[in-house]
Amino acid sequence: MTQRHGFVTNTIHAGGSGTTPAVPIHLGATTNARYMRSGNPTLDAFEENVKTLDGGGAAISTSCGMAAVSQTLLALLSPGDRIVCHNTVYHWTTYMMQNTLPKWGVDVDMVDLTDLDQMTTALSKPAAVVYFEPVANPKLEVIDSARAIQMAHEAGAKVVIDNTYLSPYLFKPLEHGADIVLHSATKYLCGHGDSLAGIVVTRDEALGQQIVTMRNTMGGILSPVNAYLLIRGIKTLSMRMDRHCANAQAVAEYLLDHPNVATVAYPGLPASQGHEIAKAQWRGFGGMVFFKIADATLHKQFLDGVRLCRPWVSLGDAGSLVSDRSENQVRMSVGLEDIEDILADLEQALDGA
Ligand code: PLP
Repeated sequence: MTQRHGFVTNTIHAGGSGTTPAVPIHLGATTNARYMRSGNPTLDAFEENVKTLDGGGAAISTSCGMAAVSQTLLALLSPGDRIVCHNTVYHWTTYMMQNTLPKWGVDVDMVDLTDLDQMTTALSKPAAVVYFEPVANPKLEVIDSARAIQMAHEAGAKVVIDNTYLSPYLFKPLEHGADIVLHSATKYLCGHGDSLAGIVVTRDEALGQQIVTMRNTMGGILSPVNAYLLIRGIKTLSMRMDRHCANAQAVAEYLLDHPNVATVAYPGLPASQGHEIAKAQWRGFGGMVFFKIADATLHKQFLDGVRLCRPWVSLGDAGSLVSDRSENQVRMSVGLEDIEDILADLEQALDGA
């Protein structure tokens, strides 16, 4: 199956054998004389699928999103190298930037990539890699990916983008020239909150081989059972993402008008930072909403009061999730439920009914 087909067709068919709708789960430590740490036919099918969706030259599945992040960065960086990273990235990626990489002799510069001056200054010194999330976790700052990629390349750096929040349906960084895109596939690609997984897609096949070698060394290999669940989940990615976007837009607009809500960030709101960039570069604004409740009492009342929206830390599931971000802030992963039910749950929790 090739990219001749449309995106949705590829979600359903790319990587499949053409003889059965369900890819077999190969559990053997060795299949066809290949030891599983180097891959197997079930992992191949998942990798081929996402490689096609992202339009890459190679895809490498990993045990979880952090294995994708760490194995990629360890493959690309050597002692003495410098990496420029946006100042807000996923918590454990931040930990890796601030603790792990410096320990191995990598110079890490965390700057605000939404600020042209800061990016220009950061790139005036040699950098091996520029790393960011197009919509930064958790506060939803939007980065101008096209501009950042162009500036990084002019400075001779490779660009690695964590696209977990958007998925290849909403945004394809490789089409804008990024060298590597990676996902915590645990989130929207899986879509059902029932497997941990990661995947790295490289433009260049040789770069992909470097990451395969690092995976063989570090051992962060995906379980074939999880690969099966991923292949199954991705078949409905486009429909789920359209609905996540529509529900999130309605939630953001509802919160904006609520007297107990102080601020709302959602790239789909015209007044939100980065709205115009998101509109120009993405297919939709995503399923994540970030908001601040008016005071600490109302914040506690809200978190104690939600019933349908669950207080779990993940995101991208079918069900709505809310997570406490301290200082009266809440990150919400808006799910696929009937929008009337989501809004009614928010209302009773915000109003203390
Ligand atoms: N990247 C982002 C943006 C995330 O939100 C997460 C997890 O929440 C990760 C990476 C890590 O993924 P995993 O939990 O699958 O290791």
